[in-house]
Amino acid sequence: MHIIVRNAKCQGHARCWSQAPDIFKLDEDGYILPGNINVAERDEFLALRGARSCPERALEIDRSSDHITNDGVS
Ligand code: SF4
Repeated sequence: MHIIVRNAKCQGHARCWSQAPDIFKLDEDGYILPGNINVAERDEFLALRGARSCPERALEIDRSSDHITNDGVS
């Protein structure tokens, strides 16, 4: 699973970080760092909670590549 990060929407609420600080990294002003996030299967529950907690919808859940990872292609 991936989290697509829409930096332009982030308003620095840090709610994602408060749910899962190991998954959602913020800069010193509390804004999410750029770059999509690759989530390990064991971290999916926390990542989903964090992504859904974002009031700006800056974190989009992307499962489209899951089958590729499971096949061992990537
Ligand atoms: S919860 Fe949303 S708005 Fe707040 S820091 Fe995280 S991505 Fe940005």
